Amino acid sequence: MYIIEPHIHMYSRITDDYQAMYKAGIRVVVEPSFWLGSHRRYAGSFFDYFHLILEFETVRASRFGIDHYCCISCNPKEAENKTLTDEVLSGINEYLDHPRCIGIGETGLNTITENEIYAFRRQLLIAEERTMPVIVHLPHLRKAEGAKIIVDIIKAEGVNQRRIEIDHNTEETMSITRNTECFTGLTVYPYSKLNPRRVSHIVKEYGAGRMIINGSADWGISDPLSLPKTIEFLRNDGYREETLKRLFHDNAHEFYSQSPKWKPNYHIEPVPVSYYQR
Ligand SMILES: [Zn+2]
Repeated sequence: MYIIEPHIHMYSRITDDYQAMYKAGIRVVVEPSFWLGSHRRYAGSFFDYFHLILEFETVRASRFGIDHYCCISCNPKEAENKTLTDEVLSGINEYLDHPRCIGIGETGLNTITENEIYAFRRQLLIAEERTMPVIVHLPHLRKAEGAKIIVDIIKAEGVNQRRIEIDHNTEETMSITRNTECFTGLTVYPYSKLNPRRVSHIVKEYGAGRMIINGSADWGISDPLSLPKTIEFLRNDGYREETLKRLFHDNAHEFYSQSPKWKPNYHIEPVPVSYYQR
């Protein structure tokens, strides 16, 4: 089985990670735009970053045999600056049109403020208008409250729920987000967020349908091999191969297939080491 990593920030990772991911069976990744570690002060900084992940990161990934796609957004952590949000969204179209951009994300909520809700709603509507998939970020704190607000907005706007993935769920948000037709994301982290055992419990309770599991690796203590490790845990926990394929390939494929630009290539040849020794 080839693995799709549906949410990872390769911008923050090194080449060893790509090599290890390839070796572990990961062939396709999706990189949503994220917070770079400090708040951007100019819309141009967003645009240069979008350009970088859409152009350079895709080429870098392909050198290691991995097919790389992106989602682009004004992320919730930087959505407090409404003027900047408006500037970024007014110039975002050319990046959404890029052949490697298959969705909007991450958008959603961080500390649950009016300005964050404004940015989330606007991007939800842009995605609806363009019929693009959306990755929605649940807040790290007050998660249940944030999940309720997000679900209420999605329902009130009447947007297509099958094109939305609500990500970073925990036990406390599942009953809220599963009460929609949205895909639901589970993030496996070494310490914070979910571990494989909790993922196993959640999937047993809610089923494998519409469930997307991601590693979400970034600058922090995270693991680009979260998915292969979780597969191993679930296999030992009695999960059948067809369920594992559903959880680590088919569901993400179904979700992103809603973009006509999603054409995963599982057979990119990594550039041989001899190339670098010339
Ligand atoms: Zn992320």
